[in-house]
Amino acid sequence: MSITKNLQDIQSQIPENVTLVAVSKTKPVSDIMQAYQTGQRIFGENKIQDMVDKYEEMPKDIQWHMIGHVQRNKVKYMASFVSLIHGVENFKTLKEINKQAAKHNRIIDCLLQIKIASEDTKFGMSANEASEILQSEAFSELKNVNVVGVMGMATFTDDQEQIRNEFNLLKSIFNNLKKENNKLTTISMGMSGDFKLAIQCGSTMVRVGSSIFGNRNY
Ligand SMILES: *Cc1c(COP(=O)(O)O)cnc(C)c1O
Repeated sequence: MSITKNLQDIQSQIPENVTLVAVSKTKPVSDIMQAYQTGQRIFGENKIQDMVDKYEEMPKDIQWHMIGHVQRNKVKYMASFVSLIHGVENFKTLKEINKQAAKHNRIIDCLLQIKIASEDTKFGMSANEASEILQSEAFSELKNVNVVGVMGMATFTDDQEQIRNEFNLLKSIFNNLKKENNKLTTISMGMSGDFKLAIQCGSTMVRVGSSIFGNRNY
């Protein structure tokens, strides 16, 4: 299967109101260009340095999303161009993004990563922490970040009911946060194996990698 064919196949399964992030991590520019030539403009990377390298080489109308763990000392490298940061796990990171965005006179869109999986290895904050951040005075002083929603990853399991419960949990956390802050629009959940289920549960943004670009060899 070609990248073009895979991408068209995924696009045909995604309703218009859901945004597709093509997760290109570990993949070479030549692969990403195939998706670009098929019309895809939003790509997700999980390492800041890789995203910077690809940004420099590739067409400038690409919107680059940081979907991985955000190392605070590297935020400065992506602040001039990153389009959406999915994995904000705490207030300190938000503060650093704000500081670096200000240097470029930008307002950077961010998602708060919520821990919905049962695995200890998954990152993210609790619903309460997210709510506290959004209501805090310290947050209201950050003029160069715009929190537009939440992101979550389900447990790595074959148990569809468990995945569904976790996605439903993220949707309900989003609904509660939105009552306090109606700027929120985005629920980033769903990957190659579970994006259809995520959309059923209310996802507005899916992050699909291997179903488009093939398996990754780390
Ligand atoms: C790698 C990754 C994806 C894509 O995973 P696939 O199973 O290849 O679709 C989505 N989200 C995050 C946060 C990732 O790290």
